[in-house]
Amino acid sequence: MLSNADIAERLDAFAVLLELAGSQPYTSRAYRRAADMIRETPAPIVELVRQGRVRDLRGIGPGIERRLQELVETGEIAELTELEQQVRPELIGLGRYLGVSPRRAIEIGETLGVRDLEELRDAARNGRLTEVPGIGPKTAAKLVEALERGAPARRGMLLNRALALEAGLAEALGGAPAGDPRRMRDASERFAVVCATGRPDEVLDRFEALGQVVSIVQRESGRAVGVTVEGVPVEVIAAAPARFGTELVRATGSAAYVDALGPLPDASDEEAVYRELGVPWCPPELREAPFRGEPPRLVELSDIRGELHCHTTWSDGKASVLEMASAARELGYEYLAICDHTKAVGAVPGLGSDDVLRQGDEVAAANDALTPFGVLAGIECDILPDGSLDLPDHVLERLDWVTASIHAGQRAPRKEITARTVAALRHPAVRALSHPTGRIINHRPPNAVELEEVIAVALEERVAVEINGLPDRLDLRDEHVRMCVEAGLPVLCNTDAHSTRGLGNMRLAVGTGRRGWATAADVLNTRPLAELLAWKSG
Ligand SMILES: [Zn+2]
Ligand SMILES: [Zn+2]
Repeated sequence: MLSNADIAERLDAFAVLLELAGSQPYTSRAYRRAADMIRETPAPIVELVRQGRVRDLRGIGPGIERRLQELVETGEIAELTELEQQVRPELIGLGRYLGVSPRRAIEIGETLGVRDLEELRDAARNGRLTEVPGIGPKTAAKLVEALERGAPARRGMLLNRALALEAGLAEALGGAPAGDPRRMRDASERFAVVCATGRPDEVLDRFEALGQVVSIVQRESGRAVGVTVEGVPVEVIAAAPARFGTELVRATGSAAYVDALGPLPDASDEEAVYRELGVPWCPPELREAPFRGEPPRLVELSDIRGELHCHTTWSDGKASVLEMASAARELGYEYLAICDHTKAVGAVPGLGSDDVLRQGDEVAAANDALTPFGVLAGIECDILPDGSLDLPDHVLERLDWVTASIHAGQRAPRKEITARTVAALRHPAVRALSHPTGRIINHRPPNAVELEEVIAVALEERVAVEINGLPDRLDLRDEHVRMCVEAGLPVLCNTDAHSTRGLGNMRLAVGTGRRGWATAADVLNTRPLAELLAWKSG
């Protein structure tokens, strides 16, 4: 019988192919979401499908239900099989791995009649690449180099996708995720899964056969590197059980950290590796630079008592005030601050003074309905170019929680953007600063703000600084968190959620805090609400 993991894997493969075939992004996202949900569902999906109850699950509509019925009855999804022949995922994955666009990868495959890496290497060695229309000697030379030396530098994969990719592979192989995602790097380049096994060939065969793996780049005894359809190389290490801990330490990295540990002893788990080295066990998030000391007790997801930055349908969020607050309570939190945008944000709807007051009534009603859970009337108030705030003082004063942020003019020179930020910190109503450097990973560098000065003023004014958990922000980043921790300035772990699901990104904010050496005491929203609110007045 198909397990939930098998079914989720097929839906994920379908999502990827739909994306490659250029369907609506919404469709492929719906399949990916359904796959995630099926993985988390304890009840066997096959039973639910047979009983016609699968649509009781959130996110399963009639379209996905039909595909699930087909999969349960026939063991396959016909459209998926068709798509696989049409879009040639193996070529696209290979192309991405080599830094070539999907269209070009398919052209290469069709012109030269190659289906995998070996055949492509042969064709390249025989000088056949220039037979492909549009490939001149220069591009051919670049490709040959990529083929001989491995993938060129690429943009790292965002942490949420990276964690999901490794979790899926690790589950399918019964192994443990390692590599960059295990260290919670903001963008991952090195992916690895370590399996403890007495039968390494079986594990590696299973890896080769997985739907997500389109090409095997290397295979030797106990180790293989496969390329996923996204073009990402993933290393699988099939370790003898007596060496599982050793291989896990090595595959988790970073290389600089592991090298500095010296020769690793054989051990079946990580703790034993460290014990034999005479070094205290180190959380993966701190394994960046060489370190042999006693690590602090880092903040954990379970330490978080509430969320202080989220949006609702009042601005660009997808859920109502009550829905967001109920979802936060479900997560075990004690409080949630509703912080929609103000008008200056421009690109999406923002709240003016009247809206804020009307929303206040809705927040108060939600607060009453959910008591003792606390729903805070808050705002994410734009900092205007002159450093003033986008709402009048008499409105800001009535709010429980004001977080200030900049959404435009990120390219301003250092002095200007620092002065703008600092002016907002000086405003008596401001309790937090959101996404302080404005970076968008892989798209926009951080602004030029002088963080030392921001931290000094934030300490004086008792304003907490946010670690924004949106996967493409993670702002403050790790090294900046460490600057706050060392200065004694509390940080906030927030998700900036725009949906109830978005609240789940808290683990990314916490992971970033851990990489910045933050303990629970360094994170303001590990405190009970009254204590958190009292911090401002000292
Ligand atoms: Zn924002
Ligand atoms: Zn926001």
